[in-house]
Amino acid sequence: MPVTAVVGANWGDEGKGKITDYLAREASFVVRYQGGNNAGHTIINEFGKFALHLLPSGVFYPNVVNVLGPGVAVNIPALLAEFDALQSRGVPRPDVRVSERAQVLLPHHILFDALEEERLGKESFGSTKSGIAPFYADKCLKIGLQVNELFDTAIVKARLAKAFVSRNVLLEKLYGKPPLVLEETVAQLIQLRDRLAPFVTDTTMLLQDAVEAGKTVLVEGQLGTLRDPDHGIYPYPTSSSPLAGFAAVGAGVPPWSISRIVAVTKAYSSCVGAGPFVTELHGDEGEGLRRRGGDAGEYGATTGRPRRVGWFDCVATSYGCRVQGATEAAITNLDVLGYRDAIPVCTAYRIAGETTTKFPVSRLLDGAEAVYEVFSGWKTDIGAIRSFDELPDKARDYVLFIEEKIRTPIRWVSVGPRREQIIRR
Ligand code: GDP
Repeated sequence: MPVTAVVGANWGDEGKGKITDYLAREASFVVRYQGGNNAGHTIINEFGKFALHLLPSGVFYPNVVNVLGPGVAVNIPALLAEFDALQSRGVPRPDVRVSERAQVLLPHHILFDALEEERLGKESFGSTKSGIAPFYADKCLKIGLQVNELFDTAIVKARLAKAFVSRNVLLEKLYGKPPLVLEETVAQLIQLRDRLAPFVTDTTMLLQDAVEAGKTVLVEGQLGTLRDPDHGIYPYPTSSSPLAGFAAVGAGVPPWSISRIVAVTKAYSSCVGAGPFVTELHGDEGEGLRRRGGDAGEYGATTGRPRRVGWFDCVATSYGCRVQGATEAAITNLDVLGYRDAIPVCTAYRIAGETTTKFPVSRLLDGAEAVYEVFSGWKTDIGAIRSFDELPDKARDYVLFIEEKIRTPIRWVSVGPRREQIIRR
C-alpha cells in the first residue's frame, strides 16, 4: 500500500486531526514528520475530545504504530505528559516510537522564543512560544542535540557547552537576563532520557521496511502550505516545512512511496498568528463565524487564542493544493456555514488595479483585495447527512464550485467535528 499524506492546504487548523483520525482506522503506521507541540489537532471520538500536540493522530487505535520522525521537535516533558494524559482518560496505552535521529527541544529554546517575541513587541510573529524557531535554528547551526545523543553524557555536556557560549552572550547583552547554567540543563536531560528510552528507535528503517512490506502508512503534516518557509507567507511561516514533499525527509519514507496526498481545507478560512490574510472578516460578521466555527468556536487548540476568520479563498487554497501536490481534498466544517443567508467566496485578488487568480509573494499580498462571488446559504443543519446526494442543493453547489476552483477532487466532506460526521464521495 502507498503512503498517504494528510496535509493542510491553508494556514493550519483545517481539521487534519479529524481526517487523520478517520483514515487511521486502516493504517499500520501514523507518522508526524515536522513541527513540535506548537499546534494542536482536535479529535473527537468514543474516548472524548482531545487536542493532540505532539502525538500522532493514530494513538486511539491499538493496532497503529505512532511515529515521531526525525523532522519533529521533541519536547520530552510535553510528550510524556500527553502520553500519560491519554491513559488517564481511558485510552489504551498507544504504541509510540520516537526517532533516534529526531532532535530534542531544549529548555532554552522555549526561553529564547518568549524573550524574542517580547523584544519584538508589536512586530512579533505571533509565535506560540513553544521554542520551535530557536529549535530549528540550532539544528541548522549544528548546536542541537539528537535524541540518541542524550544517552552519551559526554556528548550532551560538550554540545550544550558549545551552544551556551553564543546563547549566553545573547541572554546577557541583548535580553539582559542571567546566563544559562550548563550543569542544571544536563541534570534535567539525564533525568528525562530514562523516561524517553523505551520509545526511542530507528524509525527510518522501521518505516522503510513497512513501505517495502506494503503496510499502510499515514504521514500527517502540522499547519499548512501557507506556513511553509519557502512557499508560504514569509516572514510569517513556521520553521519546518508542512508540505507533503517534506514528509519524505521528515518521516524518512521514499519520495516515490507518497502517492496519495489529501489536502485538508475548511469551508471558510481561519488563521492563527500574524501575516497577510486577504479574506479576513472583522467586527460582528467575523465574530459570528468565529463563535460558530469548529467544535467550540475558532479558538487555538494549543493557545486558546481567538483565530482570525474569513471567507473561503480559492486563490490561496488552489495554490495550497497545488504546492502540496494534492491528489484529493477534504473540506471540513461545511456544517458551520448553515446559519448564513449568503456566503461569499473569494475567486480572485485585485492587486494594484489588476485582477489575478495567482497567489502572489507576501510583499504583494498586503495590498491585495478579495474579489467575491456570493452563494445563497442552505440554512439547515447538515450534521446528520452521510451522503453527498442528500446534501441540500445549495451546499452541493458550494462544494462543487470550490472543487472546480481548487482543481482538486473533493473526496471528503466533513459535516461535524465527530469522527462519524463525514461524507465520502
Ligand atoms: P488541525 O490542526 O488541522 O487538526 O485542526 P484543529 O483541530 O486545530 O481545528 C479544527 C477544528 O475544527 C477543531 O475544533 C475540530 O474539532 C473542528 N472540526 C473538524 N471538522 C469539523 C467539521 O466538519 N465541522 C465542525 N463543526 N467542526 C469540525
